Amino acid sequence: MDFEEPAGRPEAATIEHLVDSTFGGIRSSKHRRLAHAACNHARNEFRMQAERQFKQWIAQRQASAKTLNNKKTDV
Ligand SMILES: [Zn+2]
Repeated sequence: MDFEEPAGRPEAATIEHLVDSTFGGIRSSKHRRLAHAACNHARNEFRMQAERQFKQWIAQRQASAKTLNNKKTDV
C-alpha cells in the first residue's frame, strides 16, 4: 500500500466504499476500507458490468413476456 501522492498509480491507497451511498448506505467508517487504486477500480468496473448485464437480462425477459402475451391475444 502506497500512501504517497499522487494517488493515480495502481498501488496508491484509496478508500473503498463497501456500502454504496446510492443504495442508501450510511456514510460510516464501518463501510469503508483501504484498497489499492487498481483493486478499487477493477471492483467498480466488475460491478458496473454485472449491473449492465442484469439490466439486459431483465429487458430480454420483459421483451419475451410481451411476445408471449401478444401471441395469446392473437389466438
Ligand atoms: Zn490490492
